Amino acid sequence: MAAYGSDRDAHPAGAPRDDTLAPMTLGNAVDNFLEVIVGCDSCGHSVAVDVTSLIEPLGRDFPVPDIETHARCGTCGVKKA
Ligand SMILES: [Zn+2]
Repeated sequence: MAAYGSDRDAHPAGAPRDDTLAPMTLGNAVDNFLEVIVGCDSCGHSVAVDVTSLIEPLGRDFPVPDIETHARCGTCGVKKA
Protein backbone atom coordinates (compact mmCIF):
# COMPACT_ATOMS: atom_id res chain seq x y z
CA MET A 1 0.00 0.00 0.00
CA ALA A 2 1.56 3.25 -1.10
CA ALA A 3 0.96 6.49 0.68
CA TYR A 4 1.07 9.65 -1.36
CA GLY A 5 4.14 11.72 -0.66
CA SER A 6 5.91 8.95 1.20
CA ASP A 7 8.63 8.75 -1.44
CA ARG A 8 9.49 12.43 -1.32
CA ASP A 9 12.83 11.88 0.36
CA ALA A 10 13.69 8.80 -1.66
CA HIS A 11 14.24 10.72 -4.90
CA PRO A 12 17.26 12.90 -5.57
CA ALA A 13 16.42 16.50 -6.27
CA GLY A 14 15.59 17.07 -9.90
CA ALA A 15 14.76 13.45 -10.60
CA PRO A 16 11.67 12.79 -12.66
CA ARG A 17 8.67 12.35 -10.47
CA ASP A 18 7.35 8.84 -10.15
CA ASP A 19 3.80 9.03 -11.42
CA THR A 20 2.90 5.62 -10.14
CA LEU A 21 2.56 6.93 -6.61
CA ALA A 22 0.82 10.20 -7.38
CA PRO A 23 -2.77 10.44 -8.56
CA MET A 24 -3.03 11.20 -12.27
CA THR A 25 -4.42 14.60 -13.06
CA LEU A 26 -6.53 15.76 -15.97
CA GLY A 27 -3.46 17.52 -17.36
CA ASN A 28 -1.46 14.29 -17.22
CA ALA A 29 -4.21 12.42 -19.02
CA VAL A 30 -4.38 14.93 -21.86
CA ASP A 31 -0.62 15.23 -22.20
CA ASN A 32 -0.29 11.47 -22.48
CA PHE A 33 -3.44 10.98 -24.58
CA LEU A 34 -4.79 8.67 -21.93
CA GLU A 35 -8.36 7.55 -21.95
CA VAL A 36 -10.09 7.97 -18.61
CA ILE A 37 -12.76 5.43 -17.82
CA VAL A 38 -15.26 5.95 -15.03
CA GLY A 39 -17.23 2.97 -13.80
CA CYS A 40 -20.60 2.92 -12.06
CA ASP A 41 -20.90 0.91 -8.87
CA SER A 42 -24.63 0.54 -9.25
CA CYS A 43 -25.02 -0.96 -12.72
CA GLY A 44 -21.45 -1.70 -13.73
CA HIS A 45 -21.65 0.62 -16.73
CA SER A 46 -18.38 2.28 -17.61
CA VAL A 47 -17.84 5.23 -19.88
CA ALA A 48 -14.87 7.03 -21.38
CA VAL A 49 -14.64 10.56 -20.02
CA ASP A 50 -14.00 13.52 -22.29
CA VAL A 51 -11.01 14.82 -20.37
CA THR A 52 -10.61 17.92 -22.48
CA SER A 53 -14.08 19.13 -21.64
CA LEU A 54 -13.45 18.55 -17.93
CA ILE A 55 -10.28 20.60 -17.84
CA GLU A 56 -12.14 23.83 -18.49
CA PRO A 57 -14.34 23.69 -15.40
CA LEU A 58 -12.09 21.62 -13.15
CA GLY A 59 -8.55 22.57 -14.15
CA ARG A 60 -5.50 20.57 -15.23
CA ASP A 61 -4.52 19.75 -11.66
CA PHE A 62 -7.80 18.05 -10.86
CA PRO A 63 -7.10 14.44 -9.79
CA VAL A 64 -8.53 11.85 -12.15
CA PRO A 65 -9.72 9.60 -9.28
CA ASP A 66 -11.93 12.46 -8.12
CA ILE A 67 -13.81 12.57 -11.42
CA GLU A 68 -15.94 9.73 -10.17
CA THR A 69 -17.31 11.93 -7.42
CA HIS A 70 -18.53 14.38 -10.07
CA ALA A 71 -19.68 11.87 -12.62
CA ARG A 72 -23.21 10.78 -13.19
CA CYS A 73 -24.01 7.43 -14.71
CA GLY A 74 -25.69 7.75 -18.10
CA THR A 75 -27.23 4.31 -17.84
CA CYS A 76 -28.87 4.16 -14.44
CA GLY A 77 -28.64 7.84 -13.51
CA VAL A 78 -26.96 7.23 -10.19
CA LYS A 79 -24.75 10.06 -9.11
CA LYS A 80 -21.81 9.03 -7.04
CA ALA A 81 -21.66 10.59 -3.65
ZN1 LIG B 1 -25.02 3.13 -13.42
